[in-house]
Amino acid sequence: MSRRTDDVATLIAEAREGRTRAVARLITLVEDASPRLREVMAALAPYGGHAHVIGLTGAPGVGKSTTTSALVAEFRGRGLTVAVLAIDPSSPFSGGALLGDRIRMTEHASDRGVYIRSMASRGHLGGLSWSTPQALRVVDAAGFDVVLIETVGVGQSEVEIARAADTTVVLLAPGMGDGIQAAKAGILEIGDLYVVNKSDRDGAHKVRKDLFGMLKLADRAPEAWDPPVLATSSLNQQGLAEVADALVEHREWLAATGNLRVRRERRARDEIEAIAVQELRSRWASVGEAGAMKELSARVAAGELDPYSAADALLA
Ligand code: GDP
Repeated sequence: MSRRTDDVATLIAEAREGRTRAVARLITLVEDASPRLREVMAALAPYGGHAHVIGLTGAPGVGKSTTTSALVAEFRGRGLTVAVLAIDPSSPFSGGALLGDRIRMTEHASDRGVYIRSMASRGHLGGLSWSTPQALRVVDAAGFDVVLIETVGVGQSEVEIARAADTTVVLLAPGMGDGIQAAKAGILEIGDLYVVNKSDRDGAHKVRKDLFGMLKLADRAPEAWDPPVLATSSLNQQGLAEVADALVEHREWLAATGNLRVRRERRARDEIEAIAVQELRSRWASVGEAGAMKELSARVAAGELDPYSAADALLA
């Protein structure tokens, strides 16, 4: 019972016409690691590269969901279309929407220029590095002007996001142990733009000042981008125009300096590596389970063979 809408070429044509159902279906193929993914990626390849890919990260509670939503409204006001990929580390399954996502979804639900998708950070085939860049390919090829990748600033994810995005926004807020914590988390190296949210609250000014101080100490080449520190009160839709302006400015700087190409090549390299490693792993699974492995393990354990020779024998 194959429906016409599951034909890859049709799905891609529909996605490029702005039909979000087709976009959703294609991302599901990514998340499910569908055997047809190769076909999808091959067909999408010529259409990529248009979107400004923005990564947004910060500790839970700083206001990422609120700021993403406010930023979507700001970009929409400028006539740009926006896709949001919200990476949800708490969900081992695809489609696990956080409460914040559900709120946003209703806010932008009727707008065809907005597509919002929650994704598991650990899919069937491993981490963010595997599924997010491919979902990104889908929304990029679909023609969205801006793609916001939102991730919770936990562990390795900020660094991964920084490598996947053209521009990385680090969000902070007062009352969260901020400054020192930021330095510890290595957040000072990854931001192209720092935003102190909840600036309607006490302590926001101090967070900004501390952050300025810490960024000044960073060892930066004279020709490098100097990351601005901005303030928002996203709950009140304040400061977002300045953030959007700075994002556009960074994108222009990237293009003018050749850094856009450098970043995108690095992203592509990460992608290739993730796919190749995955392929090697799945090949390994069949080798590792073969009878030869059992026999070699027994011989190594018994001291008849060294492990290097055994590995060589297995790979031969
Ligand atoms: P996330 O966990 O980083 O996605 O944070 P949320 O966007 O869910 O926000 C966490 C809490 O902070 C929610 O209760 C928001 O309403 C609140 N919040 C977000 N932005 C602001 C802001 O600009 N000012 C104030 N006072 N509260 C905010």
